[in-house]
Amino acid sequence: MWRDAWLPGLEKGQSAQSIDINYTLVSDLIDVNTYTWQADVVNSLFGSDQARRVLSMPLSRFTQEDEFLWQGDNTEEYLVRSGYKWLVSNTGDGTECANTSQNNELRVFYNRIWNLKLANKIKITFWRIANNFLPTLSNLVPPRVATSSWCPVCSDAEETVKHLFCDCAVITQVLNALLVPFAPSNNTNNWKLWLVKEFVNSSLDKCKLWMVVFWAVWFNRNSAYHEGVNQQAYGIVAFVKKHTCKNWTVWIRFYKRFNVLRVAFGSHQRDLK
Ligand SMILES: [Zn+2]
Repeated sequence: MWRDAWLPGLEKGQSAQSIDINYTLVSDLIDVNTYTWQADVVNSLFGSDQARRVLSMPLSRFTQEDEFLWQGDNTEEYLVRSGYKWLVSNTGDGTECANTSQNNELRVFYNRIWNLKLANKIKITFWRIANNFLPTLSNLVPPRVATSSWCPVCSDAEETVKHLFCDCAVITQVLNALLVPFAPSNNTNNWKLWLVKEFVNSSLDKCKLWMVVFWAVWFNRNSAYHEGVNQQAYGIVAFVKKHTCKNWTVWIRFYKRFNVLRVAFGSHQRDLK
């Protein structure tokens, strides 16, 4: 009961005031004689909001087998079609898109990702990043898998997907060195919608390079966390360039285009030439 998302409205594991090893299953919270929640136990283990959610769940007076129910829509039955529909219309934090234009942007976003000529491992890693499905430390701390959520790359902030792939000093340096920084005007709060906005408003070449960068940054983060090997930004830049240069024509076309833009707008990054 400490790790599974069994409480309605909460996507991740439950966080208790104090984990008590005497209680491991949800059934431990139920009085089997009266078929009611043991309110005193629930209140002692969970915060007031979570305790309220537990106690408001009705309990059946009849014994029946547990079964899995699909929560993505009101059919309660999972189909691949409904799973896909849920994924393309979900903002990544368990909520649906607010309007049709967000839905359309998500559709464009997914079409772009899957149609790019990139290795599947890069696309899948990127899809996991966009949906916050990576085992970042902030995702591991609530179910007590990790003890600290501090970024293993810069040690400067909590390690969330937004931090690693948008705010961390390392990704900022890498993107600046490659001349593909994110738009400073994008102030969308939700991580996935922020990413979608960046991608649907940029060229395909830029999206492709970002995806390779994300993949390299996650690779570096794993080396830093598991092996203590933390490359500097220039190491990641070299890695990305080497990977991208496997297809010289694409890279040269891309680089020329951004060089031209840089000259046209008189970029402050001239000293990086
Ligand atoms: Zn960091």
